[in-house]
Amino acid sequence: MPEITEDRVDRFAREILRLREEYEFATFWLGAHVPGPVSQEEAIELKKQINRRVSERTLELGIQAEPTPVHPVVRIQMNWATGEVEITVEPLLVYGRYLKLSREIPQSRWPCRLCRGKGCDSCGGTGKRYFTSIEELAAAPLLAATRAERTKMHSVGREDVDARMLGRGRPFILQLTQPRVRNVALGPIEEQLNRAHADTMAVREMRIVDRAMLEKLVRLEPDKSYRAEVRCLVPARREPVERLAEIRDVTLEQETPRRVLHRRPNRLRRRVVRECAVEISDAGETVRRFHLTLRVQSGTYIKEFISGDEGRTRPSVSHMLRVPCECAELDVTDVHVDPLLET
Ligand SMILES: [Zn+2]
Repeated sequence: MPEITEDRVDRFAREILRLREEYEFATFWLGAHVPGPVSQEEAIELKKQINRRVSERTLELGIQAEPTPVHPVVRIQMNWATGEVEITVEPLLVYGRYLKLSREIPQSRWPCRLCRGKGCDSCGGTGKRYFTSIEELAAAPLLAATRAERTKMHSVGREDVDARMLGRGRPFILQLTQPRVRNVALGPIEEQLNRAHADTMAVREMRIVDRAMLEKLVRLEPDKSYRAEVRCLVPARREPVERLAEIRDVTLEQETPRRVLHRRPNRLRRRVVRECAVEISDAGETVRRFHLTLRVQSGTYIKEFISGDEGRTRPSVSHMLRVPCECAELDVTDVHVDPLLET
């Protein structure tokens, strides 16, 4: 059985203190890998002793962190044979709601379709189809402040690139991987973002959240509200346009839209349009253009509800007006949920 020498314990403890200089953590938990040949019982006993003695030594040396097995910020694995330590850092999760004010950028990083992110002539070597995204803009100051390695964006659904996200914004969580700093002042970061990208985006309600919040957020499927500009390709009669305001809890049958069939399998889904309001700017008996405000069940395809998508969405605005219509502009005006209040 390998011997647990004071010298070895001290060296591991000092290595852990060095890691504490590099990574900010208030809590940690140790694990040990011990070399064979030892029996299973011996190994368990050895690990227990190593963990306890190294933990005690780090505290003697004045580590500004507490050992705990309950949700530690970092886990440190010691290899007793090689003297190496390996650190696993909990990601830092930053919650917020974003507004997307531009019809030219997507929500998240969009790899170039031709080179799939490697960089080619078509994308100017960037590997991206769009030069930036809400995710990249919001992540930049957080990456700088936390010195994390990378980010991933989770959100309550997403809008099309050419749609704006208005109102109180869409809830999201940015997951920062391997952050070195965890105590960041999010207020100034939010202000800086909102000043620097005032024409493109805004962020609100930023705060640090835990894993349970992430698990909750990705499962939410709240109603959404939209404002759509509808163009009639043939002038429509005024009266049926006005009657669209009577729509209440109408169930749509939607086959996967033609525009996304290249990346999603065809399937039929049923979604409910809960309510609808109409604003007609044209005077007179015929209408060429009007606005619809809709509240719908999560996952409803709005552009297809308007056009009918060649019969793949039933019923549709085109069908109800008996003239072909299309969605000229689309804004999401609300995502009807506050994850911070959900239980
Ligand atoms: Zn490319």
